[in-house]
Amino acid sequence: METKRIALISVHGDPAVEVGKEEAGGQNVYVRQVGEALAKQGWVVDMFTRKTSVTQPSIVQHTANCRTIRLEAGPQTFIPRDEIFNYLPAFVQQFLQFQENQGIKYSVVHTNYWLSSWVGMELKKIQNIKQVHTYHSVGAVKYNTITDIPPIASTRLATEKACLETSDRIVATSPQEKQHLQKLVSEQGCIDIIPCGTDISRFGAISSSEARLSLGMSKSSLVVLYVGRFDKRKGIETLVRAIKRSIFIGLADIRLIIVGGSRPGKSDGIERERIENIVDELGLREYVTFPGRINHNRLPYYYAASNICVVPSHYEPFGLVTIEAMASGTPVVGSDVGGLQFTVVPEHTGLLCPPQDEIAFSEAIDRILSRPEWQKQLGKASRKRVETMFSWDGVAQQLSELYTSLMDETAVSMPISA
Ligand code: UDP
Repeated sequence: METKRIALISVHGDPAVEVGKEEAGGQNVYVRQVGEALAKQGWVVDMFTRKTSVTQPSIVQHTANCRTIRLEAGPQTFIPRDEIFNYLPAFVQQFLQFQENQGIKYSVVHTNYWLSSWVGMELKKIQNIKQVHTYHSVGAVKYNTITDIPPIASTRLATEKACLETSDRIVATSPQEKQHLQKLVSEQGCIDIIPCGTDISRFGAISSSEARLSLGMSKSSLVVLYVGRFDKRKGIETLVRAIKRSIFIGLADIRLIIVGGSRPGKSDGIERERIENIVDELGLREYVTFPGRINHNRLPYYYAASNICVVPSHYEPFGLVTIEAMASGTPVVGSDVGGLQFTVVPEHTGLLCPPQDEIAFSEAIDRILSRPEWQKQLGKASRKRVETMFSWDGVAQQLSELYTSLMDETAVSMPISA
């Protein structure tokens, strides 16, 4: 029987690094978790990324059949994603070289984010390979929510359109993303909806009291949590201003924990500094803590200890943090955008507010915090929704079926050798 071998390509999102700092976030988690879950289901999984430091090992073996392979494409240093495009031809060459050295030829490649989609499209020109693509973020949607459009924008938009029209399958992570692609990118394209997942045994295993004890938090305070990168589009400013309003109208016991980010001087340090300045200007220092980046093993404690998790993004293609909180039985107050409209069911698992509307966020937070019984009900319904729809194993199963059907097509189209 043919080995079920799959290459996952994530040029800028290294699945082997720690997430939560600089540009490492949901995509890194997605690729790593999908890779490991596929390996458990019998696939041999190679995850390709760009090497960003001379001290990084070129190959990291995660489990027997799942590894990260770091290719040398461009300088071995961190490069912001908007500046990586010119190094992609080198990435393609290194990928081909790796195949040759190992005597492997992948028949299916799953690319992640537009940079990797370009790599996949080039590979399709060179060898008989099927391409599956996940966008993670769609330029046509993102550029509608920001004012500082980068010079690479036109290249990205053209690449995303070509990818939609030529990939053998697009994996949209929500019905909303599928609609965005069809409406804003191209009507041509073969799109399946397979959501992101989360580790339902890791998130949800700890009780709130156990978590608060472990984190040294008082039993009575009302804890509001943010988890994620420091990036303007994440809307942390809206949350901070909403908390100011909630305190002003009487919720003096509120504590806001803002998890994520690396040290000052790193690329995300500018946004962190800006947020800390706003916290100071609003006189909120005693109410807000910044524990920095928290390891994925420790994060379940933060979710479990919190009354609410807020996801105030201006734009959110999926939002892994949302389903991690929900799996932990913590209701989410999120922006009424993108993937959050799929994961959060308003009034049943949490609440949705117009993005950047600090009054709406403050009111939603107050509504839940002032009704502890309702908070518990929302939390239970959240957990249930994640168990039925968003486990990694379920997601990997759907991807596995998709890859298998494409491999079968490749086998049929291959000429029979004499
Ligand atoms: N994360 C983490 N530690 C942190 C901050 C974030 O492990 O200190 C993880 C978080 O648990 C989630 C991911 O980073 O799995 C963020 O993914 P999401 O899809 O919410 O946002 P993105 O980074 O893709 O915009």
